[in-house]
Amino acid sequence: MTPIRYTIHPVRPEAHLYRVACTVDDPDPSGQQFALPAWVPGSYMIRDFARHIVSIRAASRNRTVALEKLDKHTWRAQPVEGSLTVSFDVYAWDLSVRGAHLDTTHGFFNGACVFPRVLEQEAAPCELEILRPTGARYRNWRVATAMPRKGAGPYGFGTYVVGDYDELIDHPVEMGEFSLASFRACGVPHDIVITGRHRADLARLRRDLKRLCEHHMRFFGEPAPMTRYVFLVTAVGEGYGGLEHRASTALLCSREDLPREGEIEVSERYRTFLGLISHEYFHTWNVKRIKPAAFVPYDLDRENYTTLLWAFEGITSYYDDLALVRSGLIEKKDYLELLGRSITMHLRTPGRAKQSLAESSFDAWIKYYRQDENSPNATVSYYVKGSLVALCLDLLVRDKTRGRKSLDDVMRALWRRHGLTRAGLEEDGLERLAEEVTGLQLGRYLDEWLRSTRELPLKALLATQGVEMELRPAESAQDKGGKPARSKNAAGLALLGIRARAQGDDTAVTHVLEGGGAQEAGIAAGDLIIALEGLRPGQTGLDAALARRRAGERVRIHAFRRDELMSFEARLRRADADTCVLAESAGARARLLERWLGPRRD
Ligand SMILES: [Zn+2]
Repeated sequence: MTPIRYTIHPVRPEAHLYRVACTVDDPDPSGQQFALPAWVPGSYMIRDFARHIVSIRAASRNRTVALEKLDKHTWRAQPVEGSLTVSFDVYAWDLSVRGAHLDTTHGFFNGACVFPRVLEQEAAPCELEILRPTGARYRNWRVATAMPRKGAGPYGFGTYVVGDYDELIDHPVEMGEFSLASFRACGVPHDIVITGRHRADLARLRRDLKRLCEHHMRFFGEPAPMTRYVFLVTAVGEGYGGLEHRASTALLCSREDLPREGEIEVSERYRTFLGLISHEYFHTWNVKRIKPAAFVPYDLDRENYTTLLWAFEGITSYYDDLALVRSGLIEKKDYLELLGRSITMHLRTPGRAKQSLAESSFDAWIKYYRQDENSPNATVSYYVKGSLVALCLDLLVRDKTRGRKSLDDVMRALWRRHGLTRAGLEEDGLERLAEEVTGLQLGRYLDEWLRSTRELPLKALLATQGVEMELRPAESAQDKGGKPARSKNAAGLALLGIRARAQGDDTAVTHVLEGGGAQEAGIAAGDLIIALEGLRPGQTGLDAALARRRAGERVRIHAFRRDELMSFEARLRRADADTCVLAESAGARARLLERWLGPRRD
């Protein structure tokens, strides 16, 4: 097959415009069609990238060819003889891991945002020429991507080549003056590319990431499925996100999350960063190669429904932190703290009584990815609950097989059966495989955990591996769980039952929680609370004002709803025992805990 030839030129960085061209040597004689994806794999929401196309045209042999628009993102060119080029400018001002961005400081893009798909020629190899922007200020720009080079030098502008369209849009590209650190993990070259102002300790990142990557590679078994890997990190003031790809990941983090020179401890912020790195890297196996059958191949025009997102995001979320403790980057007590926080987060989501994990996965397109003020009341996260179901499954298998089998064995079987072969995982495939690998009847458990809203048996299962789970009320609005109560006799907080953020001296209500005093009193999301018992909470905030009150008290609240002043009388409720603390139980079960959280021995 003749390759499809693409070029991308950051033609006007100051106007955030890339110019993209796509040349097809043997276009469809009845009129070649082109389409831009509606979504980017890994981020399950319709984004309609075609809306950023500013102007589009087609030409053949230096003559303009008419384009007919068939739907929101598909065009058909008038039939031509000889090669056909479609070209357009695309606006890029989305600084997220799933978008495209361009200014005078750097450029970043996902292929799904900028490269049109040539219909019926998706299997053809593609060549991509990446052009340097014009002007002296771009003299020192380099290119970072896991896309294989053809004519381009290392980190250079020039020509790259891939096997097909699916691969073309699975290698995001960063360009600019970034910092670069390299290391080998199990012999495979890895790059850490950091864009944005930062003062990170690159030597430490190299050391820690090598350890983590080698842990994941050995978990699934060498050789790793990629010959090179690139971490594309954008450091900003505040931000968090990641998107997985077959041989790279795009990450957005706060520059404060990166380790500083001279810092030896793993700070809470750095731990979060390592967790994100671990998560995206695990996806190299779990979701980039082991995939739901519904994604083989991706249908880029519309939603791709599966009840299995929990297995790809939840299991990955379970192993991201687990790998930190197993590889020795964090201590057991830190891991138990992180796990305690996840359980706390889950228990503080009233929607867990409304939506099952399978429903949460299926409806990701319209619910998880399109959160609103009612989301905590109506939905459950397939990341958080998914990771807790993975935990329950792991602990159940360890307990019932007396430690002979675990979820690790199921993951490795998934890799052999569905990763190496690229055979998509059917909707019930994981459940069947888990039973086969462990020899256990798991249907009753998984059916309840995945398809009902009953509470997970976390306490009982953690106890089987020597971990005590305790629930207590939150001590303050900042209490995320994972740590023991600071004072033994804490009566617990008096809560209004809202989530809120400061807005100047006032408090904007973002969510009203199901069953709380605020809901009962009629307070609504969007209300701006200006006074509690006739006093403005001011800079110390509503939480501080509430901390001085007791559960059961009635308080008068004044708030603006739009421009109307409202008055409410709300009864404060005692905080539920929804804050989880985990601790190693003394004695006999230490060996089990070591098998679960300790370094892997084969
Ligand atoms: Zn993920």
